[in-house]
Amino acid sequence: MTFSAILRENLDRVNNEIHQACTRSGRDPAHVRLVAVTKYAAWQWIEALRLVMLDQSPRCRPVFGENRPQQLADRAVRMPDVEWHLIGQLQRNKARLVADKATLIHSVDSVRLLERLAEVRSVHSFLPGVLLQVNVTGELSKSGFSIDRLQDTWSEILSFSAHIRIVGLMTMAAESDDPESARPAFAALRNLRDSLMLRTDTASHHVNLTELSMGMSGDFIPAVEEGATLVRIGSRLFQGLEESRE
Ligand SMILES: *Cc1c(COP(=O)(O)O)cnc(C)c1O
Repeated sequence: MTFSAILRENLDRVNNEIHQACTRSGRDPAHVRLVAVTKYAAWQWIEALRLVMLDQSPRCRPVFGENRPQQLADRAVRMPDVEWHLIGQLQRNKARLVADKATLIHSVDSVRLLERLAEVRSVHSFLPGVLLQVNVTGELSKSGFSIDRLQDTWSEILSFSAHIRIVGLMTMAAESDDPESARPAFAALRNLRDSLMLRTDTASHHVNLTELSMGMSGDFIPAVEEGATLVRIGSRLFQGLEESRE
């Protein structure tokens, strides 16, 4: 099989599962966007995936996610006609690298990084929208605001909204073989979003947390059922390509 045939099959399966999860939970599939995570993908696979996605949905710009700022910047220059999202940790000294390349940063994990992005904003006119990463499970290996910390610093975070478009929240569930075990973390992120949206200071700053970035290859089904608007999927899309010959 060719790269394209494998990618098409993988993409169809993932899209079908997203659709079914939407049907089960009464959601509109148009409100769930697939972020194809290309961090481990060879360039020729990415080029093939772009064509397959454009062929299937000519009016949707493909969205690709990278976790390293340098790789995102390099790849965005080579392929400017797709949307590039940063999904991995951003050091303050790398903020400029992605400022005019990424459409969305999923992984803003500190007030200091927001400060840095606001500085960069004063130089570059274009700046990505941001999601705040929340460490719902409290695992030490994960970065992100704790739920308490995000609530405690929310008014400070809102003060950056004049310069930075804050559009949602992101989380990663604990690793597990059982997708269902991720569901409580996804529900907690949605509840947190809902409670922040009820605050009067959120409304007065015109901040609207429309995006929930949650769910990866192993757990995107419960994530969609719990309200994900962005699912970040890598291995499921590229599986089977290592062995293929073109
Ligand atoms: C790698 C990565 C993903 C995709 O993981 P898969 O299991 O390959 O789908 C999603 N989100 C983040 C933050 C990642 O680093």
